[in-house]
Amino acid sequence: MKSHYDYIITGAGLAGLSLLMRMMEDPFFDAAQILVIDAAKKNNNDRTWCFWEKDAGIFEPIVIKKWDHVSFIAPTFASELNLSPFTYKMIRGIDLYTYVLEKAATKSNISICTERVISVNTSISGASVVLENQTLTALKVFNSILFEPANVLAQKASDYFLWQHFKGFEIKTTSPVFNETVATLMDFTVNQQQGTTFMYVMPTSSTTALVEYTLFTPSILDSKTYDEAITTYIQKTYGSIDYEVTHQEFGQIPMTSYSFVRGAGNIVNIGVAGGQVKGSSGYAFHFIQEKTKAIVSDVVAGKNPLRSVSFAQKKFQLYDAVLLRVLQEKKLDGAAIFTAIFSKNPPARVFRFLNNESSLLDDLHIMASVPSRIFLPAALYSLLGIKQRRALIN
Ligand SMILES: Cc1cc2nc3c(=O)[nH]c(=O)nc-3n(C[C@H](O)[C@H](O)[C@H](O)COP(=O)(O)OP(=O)(O)OC[C@H]3O[C@@H](n4cnc5c(N)ncnc54)[C@H](O)[C@@H]3O)c2cc1C
Repeated sequence: MKSHYDYIITGAGLAGLSLLMRMMEDPFFDAAQILVIDAAKKNNNDRTWCFWEKDAGIFEPIVIKKWDHVSFIAPTFASELNLSPFTYKMIRGIDLYTYVLEKAATKSNISICTERVISVNTSISGASVVLENQTLTALKVFNSILFEPANVLAQKASDYFLWQHFKGFEIKTTSPVFNETVATLMDFTVNQQQGTTFMYVMPTSSTTALVEYTLFTPSILDSKTYDEAITTYIQKTYGSIDYEVTHQEFGQIPMTSYSFVRGAGNIVNIGVAGGQVKGSSGYAFHFIQEKTKAIVSDVVAGKNPLRSVSFAQKKFQLYDAVLLRVLQEKKLDGAAIFTAIFSKNPPARVFRFLNNESSLLDDLHIMASVPSRIFLPAALYSLLGIKQRRALIN
């Protein structure tokens, strides 16, 4: 391994590999020496990504399932939502890792290495990456490693924080049970005692589906609790069917109002580490694609990819903080909030809003759908920069 590169990408997860894919697609980077470092070999199917988009993205060839309709189910409202002009798409982690790494293997200017990164540091002329036995340098480092857990960072800054945590079973039934044309985005007809809790069902055929038990709460549950919730839901929804669990996944995603450091000098943070998880929903795929696209276009144009946060970004950060405040302080439960939003707005508006692509008029409609006596004070607190109630007391 050389000791100097043009670009080093630390972390070969979704953000690192999305950036690499975009760099490989742009001839500007053909002559650049690029190194990607990850502690893991990326040969496990450790997650499934779903996201909505209008057109074909760079990962279209590995999309394994698409839905034009999703259902929203809550005790007081249920509806099948036509997503047009969006399509809800599914990609398997292992397919994305393999797709990008196989392409990288054909490029002589790209190196991949399996090492643990200790730290990344900026300097006047570039940036350095400290490994266990070596320090490497580069003109720029794109870093997707969070060196301190998100909950610790949020707690130190007295910001709102919830884990979106979930366990999913991929199941295969012996007879057809699923309507594979409709995915269940949120089914709130499950016990809400722990906090915002819903089931997420992604049918990939009439006999296969990913069934996930998801919660937005401050702490993680023991593994058995998720398993029991999933088996109970399958029994309640589909009856006594014969099925086998073919794959399992567990995830915990930070939902927070904490402002992640976007980078410094010649280091650009990307992915979860760069704050590209939407604080109020836990979705990150779309935002990581937008960020990596912007980085490539900035580098090609000779601009600094660490540009200041736009007014629109600040607006959506405020909305996220307000929703998190309402959820964390239990002013209104998630089922009631999402029911209000989905029952009073056309789906396209809701999905634009959740993708941070809504117009001011869209935003006003969404705001008018939730109870103002709860959301207005929360918005005022967030606007005034007043953080967690605990922070006021301390
Ligand atoms: C199970 C799961 C399912 C998800 N599903 C969705 C979804 O459906 N839709 C959506 O929008 N978002 C989803 N997310 C959220 C988000 O899209 C993912 O977390 C996404 O993988 C974030 O990309 P990332 O590159 O920031 O982090 P990661 O993909 O986690 O990549 C970080 C990489 O850094 C490496 N690394 C960490 N520490 C070190 C170190 N010290 N040295 C070297 N390497 C290191 C890791 O091995 C990893 O490969 C999901 C998250 C999880 C966990």
